[in-house]
Amino acid sequence: MNYDVVIVGASFSGLTLAHHLPKNLKVLVLDMKKNLDAYIESTGLITQATYDLLAEFVNVGAYIPNKIVAIGVIGTDFNRNFFSYSDAPWIYSTDTPQLVKHMSDTLPENVTLSVNSKFTDYKIDKNNDYSLEVFFSKNGQEQIVRSRFIVGADGAKSSVAKSNKSLSQNKKFLIGLEKVFYGNILLGPNPDKTVYHYWFGEFSLGYGGWLSPTVIKGKKAFRLGLAKLSENANEFGEIKDFVEMLKNKKMIRIEDSTEEILTFASMIPIGGPLKNVCDDYSLLIGDAAGLCGAFAADGIKGSVVSGKVAAKLITAYLNGEKNALKKYHVEIQKYNKLMTYYKKQMLYRWLWDRMKSNRTFDTMFDIISRSKEDFLNQFCDSKDRHKSLLSIVLKISNVPLLLKYSWYLFLDLFKMSEKGI
Ligand SMILES: Cc1cc2nc3c(=O)[nH]c(=O)nc-3n(C[C@H](O)[C@H](O)[C@H](O)COP(=O)(O)OP(=O)(O)OC[C@H]3O[C@@H](n4cnc5c(N)ncnc54)[C@H](O)[C@@H]3O)c2cc1C
Repeated sequence: MNYDVVIVGASFSGLTLAHHLPKNLKVLVLDMKKNLDAYIESTGLITQATYDLLAEFVNVGAYIPNKIVAIGVIGTDFNRNFFSYSDAPWIYSTDTPQLVKHMSDTLPENVTLSVNSKFTDYKIDKNNDYSLEVFFSKNGQEQIVRSRFIVGADGAKSSVAKSNKSLSQNKKFLIGLEKVFYGNILLGPNPDKTVYHYWFGEFSLGYGGWLSPTVIKGKKAFRLGLAKLSENANEFGEIKDFVEMLKNKKMIRIEDSTEEILTFASMIPIGGPLKNVCDDYSLLIGDAAGLCGAFAADGIKGSVVSGKVAAKLITAYLNGEKNALKKYHVEIQKYNKLMTYYKKQMLYRWLWDRMKSNRTFDTMFDIISRSKEDFLNQFCDSKDRHKSLLSIVLKISNVPLLLKYSWYLFLDLFKMSEKGI
């Protein structure tokens, strides 16, 4: 069978691309999952700008259980916390599996979706109009199709990138673990409209934990997760301990006699946008292209944006515009300076990676909690509105705390070398 474009991965990036390629192109989407709605390895929080981008082609509004107007930040000792509010929703929680399923159910007729289909490799034969031989196994049976172009939308550990030496691969990761339970969040004044970030410090170096309200099958539920640097993931706390801590602190109530609805672990690329994302026959998008916030670990926006940009550029490229793919990062930047956002995220990541002890995290907590009214405006909305966390940290009144913070950062350097980090 011959296709114009084969897309490996049917999640946010691959499905966005499949929706946007012109209807005269014959497109095949492969995904190794048996059912796309079984689970999606994401908490699924999206900002207003991402919501708007999705609303251009799917009914995202039907998959929003919670509109979030607050963030609760919890210190390393689990006792100190502060809340910051916004007037309008700053992020939305999504029913992620059903939203992705809806994206796949509404694919146009020129697109064939093949689930239970694991991509394994591809080979280039320049003498054929359909220059690529794409290999995958479907229900355990080896399959080959021919294609003019292939797209790696297959996540942080992309097999498409691995199959082609001229493409870059992600090298730095957080490992994200999440559990979903029926029940209630009990912390703060409005838990159905709040997400919580736990500053774990030494328990979960590299990120921390989160708690986010959702609704599953009409019942109140919550998602609870932690992420940490993958290279030292085994040294620190486990998610089951996090669940126990939240239960003991009466921050959550798991519905009686219910087990977790879901549990998963997945890699989050935090090394920044990759350099070599295309060659004459291939392009990487979404997490596979490193388009994920290195600090906030938010990748859905980059997936949707890169899917849209890729559709335009691949079409131009297949129509003979040889340099079209080279404009990839430039076109992504046009979406509210998204590439600049990723650069800023790399700076925050650099700083966060140097924080190795609870006292350093506690001092940063002290600094930020002083500006709690403004915190939310500066935080994730920075992607949409170009705000900066630095503006609430670098203030004259914070100088004594910043000196203390710098001293602890300095001491953390020795902690790093002790551990050989
Ligand atoms: C625990 C966790 C929580 C997160 N929370 C958020 C959040 O709240 N907000 C946010 O913006 N981002 C979040 N992220 C990041 C976000 O989920 C990702 O950036 C986003 O899902 C990337 O989309 P994608 O389409 O590029 O890849 P993915 O969503 O990773 O999808 C890749 C797809 O490719 C398929 N695939 C992989 N290999 C193959 C193969 N060989 N053959 C066939 N199919 C293959 C997979 O089955 C999968 O369906 C989170 C990530 C994690 C791990």
